[in-house]
Order: sequence, then C-alpha cells, then structure tokens
Amino acid sequence: MKIAFIGLGNMGGGMAANLVKAGHDVRAFDLSEAALGAAKDAGCATFATAKEACTGAEAVVSMLPNGGIVKSVYEADVIGTAPEGAAFLDCSTIDVATAREVISAAEAAGYDMVDAPVSGGIAAANGGTLTFMVGGTETAFKRAEPILNAMGKAVIHAGDAGNGQAAKICNNMLLGIQMIGTCEAFALADKLGLDAQTFYDISSVSSGQCWSMTSYCPVPGVGPQSPSDNGYQGGFAAGLMLKDLKLAMEAAQTAGATTALGKHAQEIYEAFAADNAATDFSGIIKTL
Ligand code: NAD
Repeated sequence: MKIAFIGLGNMGGGMAANLVKAGHDVRAFDLSEAALGAAKDAGCATFATAKEACTGAEAVVSMLPNGGIVKSVYEADVIGTAPEGAAFLDCSTIDVATAREVISAAEAAGYDMVDAPVSGGIAAANGGTLTFMVGGTETAFKRAEPILNAMGKAVIHAGDAGNGQAAKICNNMLLGIQMIGTCEAFALADKLGLDAQTFYDISSVSSGQCWSMTSYCPVPGVGPQSPSDNGYQGGFAAGLMLKDLKLAMEAAQTAGATTALGKHAQEIYEAFAADNAATDFSGIIKTL
C-alpha cells in the first residue's frame, strides 16, 4: 500500500520503518533533513514537501508534536492533496477538540480519518509494540486497523472521533498522579526508617500496588528493570508527561470535570520539568 508518513522524529522514524518492513511503499516527509535521511536509510522514499508525499497516497499517517501543527499540516497539505477516499491516521498526542475538528474537515472532504495516539515510548515505536487507542467511525477504524497492526501490539477502538485522545490523556493523567503517589510513599517509608525493598515486597502484594510501583519502580534496584536503574534516562520524559497533563487539564476545563489531583500533578511536573524536561518522569522522586 502507498502510505505517506509525516513527522519522522523519535517516534515516527521507527513507526515508518516498521511500515516498510511490513511491505508498504512509504512516502516520507519531515521538516528535518536528519529525520528524512534516517527515513531514507530505513527504506522510505523521501519527499521535499508534505504535498508531494501525499500525492497518490492511499493512506496518510502523521506523528507530529502538537495540535496546531497537525491542524495546519492537514488543512494545507493533506486534505485536498491525497486522492479522495484515502484513509488518514493521526498518531500524534493532541487536544481532543483539535482532533475532532480535523477529522470533521477530512470527512467533509470525502476521507476516512482516525485519531490514534499511542501508549509506549521510543523503544516500542522502534520495536513495533505500541498500543494504539483509536477514535473514529467503524469504517475508518477498520481501514486504519491493518496499518496500525504493522506498528503495534494492540489496537483498540475507543469510540467516535477524538476518543483515542480522550483515552490517552485520561490514562496519562492517572499515570502522573499514580507516579507522584508512589514516589511520596517510598519517600515517606524511607523517612520512617522502612527499607525500600521491604516496603516494595509488602506494598506490591497489598492494596497500594499499582503499575508505577510494580512495572516502573522509581527506586533504583527495586522491582523490575526501569529508568530509575539507568539514572532516570530513557523511558518517558517529564516534559512529555507535562504536555499530557496540560492537555488533560484543558479537556477537563472544557468538559466541566473536577480533576483536583490532575491539576496538582500538572503543577508538580511543571516545577520538575523546568530543569528536568528530558529526565524520565519517575525522576520526580528526587524532589521529594
Ligand atoms: P519529535 O519532536 O521527536 O518528532 C516530531 C517530528 O515532527 C520532528 O522530526 C519534526 O521535525 C517534525 N515536524 C514538526 N513540524 C512538522 C511539519 N509541519 N511537517 C513535517 N514534519 C514536522 O517528537 P516525538 O517524540 O516523535 O513525538 C511525536 C508525537 O508522539 C507527539 O505528539 C508526542 O506527544 C507523542 N508521543 C511521544 C512519545 C515519546 O516517548 N517520545 C510517547 C507517546 C507519544
């Protein structure tokens, strides 16, 4: 299948390479020459503009930094350029309102489109083991599913347009709150003279157990291998957690939802990311 791929950064680069491995004819575009060079090495055909990449494409996949960029790229270069009836898949993490607006514009012009943000970081993008949460019509989902399967291990239909983004920001708001709570518990245990491994052994089989503790423990040397064992490098950057918390708070305000802990988590990550944006989000334990 001829697939245009726009946005070949940390995530998009590996995702486009996996589409090539699955036998697709990938037509890549990025503003960065370095990203384009890497895509070429991975077997993509590269183009000087998004319009050229989209010309003749049966599907368009995008992995871009934010909603403003997604909206401008689709409005200026994708809608009206890709052949009518093409399928569009935006895998970026963006705000729910913009996702719905772009999908509605694409549908009005005769395309099927889904929002399909991902769970999983750069390693999962490279390894083809991302989880996709997908919003859009049943028809759009069915068309997107085989393309997403080539880049991930799980593809879940979350409902109508924008619901993929809704699932992503609700999940990551919960994760941010949960990680801060886990870090506070370990920090308090330490101050009370309780050994971290002993607290882990107890809490991991008690009611405080959660993913941040048993899959991604913020204390080095405790639990399975995680970024804390690597000086809080790699993993999920605090700057990206802050981005997702901001999107969640924007959505909560628009929807009139009460998210007191989400708001507090945003404030805590804002302070941390000011000097540690590239540090893994579990590094927040160093501030407690
Ligand atoms: P990145 O900054 O590495 O890549 C973004 C790419 O988009 C860059 O190569 C940039 O040159 C390109 N770009 C920007 N504007 C463009 C335009 N107008 N036309 C074409 N290309 C353009 O970011 P990333 O880490 O790959 O993240 C991409 C998306 O994935 C974001 O929405 C992010 O929130 C989401 N995400 C990232 C991670 C992660 O661990 N990095 C995890 C889950 C989701």
